[in-house]
Amino acid sequence: MYESFNQAPPRLGNQYSGDRVLCSYLRRTLPPDVLEQVEPSLQEMGRLAGGHLYQMQLAYRLHEPQLTQWDAWGERVDRIELTPLWQEAERLAAESGVLAAAYEGRYGRFARSYQFALACLFHPSTDIYTCPLAMTDGAARTLLHSGDRALIERAVPHLTSCDPRQFWTSGQWMTESTGGSDVGRAETLAREHPGGRGTWRLYGRKWFTSAATFQIALLLARPEGNVSGGRGLALFYLETRDESGHLCNIRINRLKDKLGTRKLPAAELSMKATSAYLVMGASNGVANIVPMLHLTRTWNSVTAAAAMRRGLALARDYAAKRVAFGAPLSRKPLHVDTLAGLQAEMEAAFHLAFYLVELIGRDETGEIEAGDSELLRLLTSIVKLTTGRQAIAVASEVLEAFGGAGYLEDTGLPALLRDSQVFPIWEGTTNVLSLDVMRALARSEGLVAYRARLDACLHSAHDAGLLEAARVAQRALAHAEAWLHEVAEHGGPGVDSTSEAGARRFALTLGRALELALLIEQAQWSIDNEQDGRARAAARRFARSGIDLILDVDPADSLALANDEPLPAG
Ligand SMILES: Cc1cc2nc3c(=O)[nH]c(=O)nc-3n(C[C@H](O)[C@H](O)[C@H](O)COP(=O)(O)OP(=O)(O)OC[C@H]3O[C@@H](n4cnc5c(N)ncnc54)[C@H](O)[C@@H]3O)c2cc1C
Repeated sequence: MYESFNQAPPRLGNQYSGDRVLCSYLRRTLPPDVLEQVEPSLQEMGRLAGGHLYQMQLAYRLHEPQLTQWDAWGERVDRIELTPLWQEAERLAAESGVLAAAYEGRYGRFARSYQFALACLFHPSTDIYTCPLAMTDGAARTLLHSGDRALIERAVPHLTSCDPRQFWTSGQWMTESTGGSDVGRAETLAREHPGGRGTWRLYGRKWFTSAATFQIALLLARPEGNVSGGRGLALFYLETRDESGHLCNIRINRLKDKLGTRKLPAAELSMKATSAYLVMGASNGVANIVPMLHLTRTWNSVTAAAAMRRGLALARDYAAKRVAFGAPLSRKPLHVDTLAGLQAEMEAAFHLAFYLVELIGRDETGEIEAGDSELLRLLTSIVKLTTGRQAIAVASEVLEAFGGAGYLEDTGLPALLRDSQVFPIWEGTTNVLSLDVMRALARSEGLVAYRARLDACLHSAHDAGLLEAARVAQRALAHAEAWLHEVAEHGGPGVDSTSEAGARRFALTLGRALELALLIEQAQWSIDNEQDGRARAAARRFARSGIDLILDVDPADSLALANDEPLPAG
């Protein structure tokens, strides 16, 4: 029988030792004794991510979480069965300390870098199990920040446990059908329970509640009689199940039928007289939940970079195997040029995300200066929105790099694109975070600290091959500052329609300029210490990939285009 050609599929090796960018970054930023201690667990996670977990991911590709609302005898049960990989990920996340690493206090300010290095390896092979981890991390930090001893003692040991039997995850229930961005319109009502010693009863419907097998949730609800808007909302803590595992006055109405993240059970649920406790007072909930959002946005940024890295690892392996027009794709100049551009985007995103992680590590251990504290608040939004957009662009190109195979479900590749599409939507959309940036700049000196950091990176560069790239970063920042100055003179940041309309281009310019600067810093270090020019190549390539995105746009043109309104030709 005639044997036709079968293409060898892409393969993954150890995702830690094969990750030059992550390994080199950790060598630069971690003290050698810390690196020596954490490296075995990174090696192990890298081995699982490229082996067992990846194989499970492919094998259980068609499995999705199942919601059973009623049992055979008519009892309402609202039970969610997770996919086999999620069950495995839940156990592994606890045992390998993907969350606990940040709370054990063993590595001081470097604990966060270690934790997110683990998360970076864990994420792409566990079908977004990092979503519940992000919210759980955010909940633990928010409870610790609240100073509420009873809640801390009750929940934090579970949220940070390495024992899968003790480990709890948390939900973050903000979005209602009235709005996720404009969360101040939330309708969930809270009534103080008479004689309930601080217990409240909640009534309402939450429209998106991810990873709906959580044991606790932090959520927003409006105490009866409070003013409308965000200030009238309060932050609440609740436990979802009683001791026998039944949901406590919570009904899961349905699971969301999503484009991607399909292994992640995201539910719509209703609360009727559901018991909850106030966290940090009976108002200002939107402000009080901010520590949680800072962390979930950081997870979003790191996992966006990790997803890009996975796509590239597969595309690179495939390019070495796939022959077209007489040579492997890895030797075809235009394919090489395409992958090089993607690699530069990924390296830039990685360094920006991990710089944010470094700042969090210093903040949590009290080793942060005032200016960097303001920079941290500013960067959370910038990093999330910048890396979220990059992840989609990279994933889309990665699929194309596989040709027709990239479009076939049973290669496992389309999920890379579908799952990436969520990065810019949840935890704040690109536009909404860009407006946050404008508001943050109106209140703080974050841009001064931003400039100081960018300058420090660029001043570290003395290799002649990096100087033009450094000038590109400088020019982009100068343009951004000039634009900000202009809109501030015009009406003040965040309040004027010109600054609103340009906020996204401005925020992305700040994101990309700092990415370039951080890449340059890494490149110089790598040249000096590793005699390796690859990070320099990434910096040089990234510098030519559109750093300054600020444009002069006529608002009348925009109105006419967006709303298809008449625009006089004269
Ligand atoms: C898979 C998934 C899981 C989720 N999980 C959770 C969860 O666990 N908990 C939770 O609370 N939420 C969750 N969400 C909800 C998510 O956070 C919101 O969908 C998101 O914040 C956007 O809110 P929205 O859907 O109301 O969109 P809208 O706010 O209606 O936004 C629509 C569009 O308008 C734009 N826009 C809005 N305001 C402005 C403005 N002022 N200027 C310019 N543009 C603007 C937005 O950028 C967007 O493009 C999840 C969403 C998804 C997709």
